[in-house]
Amino acid sequence: MPRAGAEGGKPCVFCEIVAHRAPAHIVYEDESTVAFLDIFPFTRGHLLVVSKRHGARLTDLPFEDQMALIRTLDEMCRRVERLAPDYNLALNAGAAAGQVVFHVHFHIIPRYGEANPFRASTRPRLSPTDAEALVGELSSS
Ligand code: 5GP
Ligand code: ZN
Repeated sequence: MPRAGAEGGKPCVFCEIVAHRAPAHIVYEDESTVAFLDIFPFTRGHLLVVSKRHGARLTDLPFEDQMALIRTLDEMCRRVERLAPDYNLALNAGAAAGQVVFHVHFHIIPRYGEANPFRASTRPRLSPTDAEALVGELSSS
């Protein structure tokens, strides 16, 4: 069920993507979860895996939805391994942890040998051409 975002009046951006009211490069969807490309990727193929049910953080979700997320994470990690064998799996819970979208989501960030993967880096917006290529690379199991 879509919810208001943290800012109040505006709808939650990830609920809008889940409902297909906002555009996103979706590479996977089932009854409980959706995976799509991050609009400001840290690296090529940076994915977000979200629960269809709105909750700010993992502990807000019923157990079944948590398990559904883990199942989808397993599938998406396998696909990301086609791009890069190494990757970070991250979940930011709360503003102090860097969460800016308050709808629970995991990041899968492929790593291509950057010297320090946790150093802040510039994040150019996802290019439409590369997005199409990545959807092709990551949409099949
Ligand atoms: P957080 O810091 O909350 O863990 O991460 C939120 C992520 O969502 C960021 O990496 C940001 O680039 C991404 N993001 C924010 N708005 C949108 C959007 O409208 N579409 C997509 N695809 N990603 C978004
Ligand atoms: Zn939401």
